[in-house]
Amino acid sequence: VLIEDDDADSGRVRVAVRVRPRNDEDLYYDSELIDCLELQPELRRLKLRKNNWSSESYIFDDVFTESASQKRVYEAVAKPVVETVLSGYNGTVMAYGQTGTGKTYTIGSLGNDNSSERGIMVRALEDVLAEISPGLDNLSISYLQLYLEAIQDLLAPDKNNIALTKDSKSGEVCLPGATVVEISDIDQFLQVLQTGERNRHASNTKMNARSSRSHAILVVHIQRSSKGKDENEFLSVNINNSEEFPHMSGFFKSKLLIIDLAGSERIDESGVDGHVLEEAIFINLSLNSLGKCINALAENSTHIPTRDSKLTRLLSDSFGGTARTSLIITVSPSARHYSQTSSTIMFGQRAM
Ligand code: ADP
Ligand code: MG
Repeated sequence: VLIEDDDADSGRVRVAVRVRPRNDEDLYYDSELIDCLELQPELRRLKLRKNNWSSESYIFDDVFTESASQKRVYEAVAKPVVETVLSGYNGTVMAYGQTGTGKTYTIGSLGNDNSSERGIMVRALEDVLAEISPGLDNLSISYLQLYLEAIQDLLAPDKNNIALTKDSKSGEVCLPGATVVEISDIDQFLQVLQTGERNRHASNTKMNARSSRSHAILVVHIQRSSKGKDENEFLSVNINNSEEFPHMSGFFKSKLLIIDLAGSERIDESGVDGHVLEEAIFINLSLNSLGKCINALAENSTHIPTRDSKLTRLLSDSFGGTARTSLIITVSPSARHYSQTSSTIMFGQRAM
């Protein structure tokens, strides 16, 4: 059941584009420093130039230049989703883009040497920890990798085929076999993430997989018994069906998914075989199916086709309806990546 909401952002996907800074390789190859991107952040506009004669303009919800800080990106893209989750609804933040464009930096940076470098996962947990009441509320996480349509537990590396179930009545998605770790402070969370990263690296080495070929998924579970801070707002709403308003019972649980997607560069399935072919098929499957879902969300369709891939099945209770979703697409500024940049921008536009 969808709740009609005055809030224009509810149900819709918020899409931001972030351009990473030039690196040495870009400087080496782009000898004439011809930019294929022109950013007009104040107009929320990006111009993509194919050559001197042709360019296209695109509008996004946010346009971040290479100088945008981690803090600014978090506050614009993820913080509204975190706030929604703290008031009882599910939400998703994900990064999509070619390998090497800054997905992991944006989503998963731990900022070990410099806390201003912390990415969305760490900042989201900081905000949640600051808001909830110890003793009354509960915060826990699972950390997973989705590779070749199998869900692996990054906190228990021997669990490499976690079941995904869906409650037929509530639509709630569950991962009954996944490790769930209770989080009480940010340093402990950083340690858990680090353990997860180590396991991810070890497991990928064993499977001869590159981490850019899998999706990394942080699931944040919040259970609140303390009153949400939006209590007054919700009490003033005339509610016919209290089931739809988890806050009214004085206890609710909600879920935030933070996802570092596999690299969006498509592998030509005809040019490869064996292991690489299998990887390509599954990544193309999950990213295509994600594209269809966000397209359906953008078109306000009542049917979101989440069944086609494990990624979209996992997401199915955390986008659409009352859930809030932010997508951040990451691109390279270099003209030599024009075609990948163009296809990433098209993916982002499908959600607008
Ligand atoms: P991806 O996860 O998309 O493959 P990474 O996040 O690993 O890409 O980024 C590739 C490199 O570029 C890393 O060294 C990362 O630190 C750097 N990088 C990416 N985006 C930024 C940014 N906005 N500011 C500074 N460095 C960045
Ligand atoms: Mg990465």
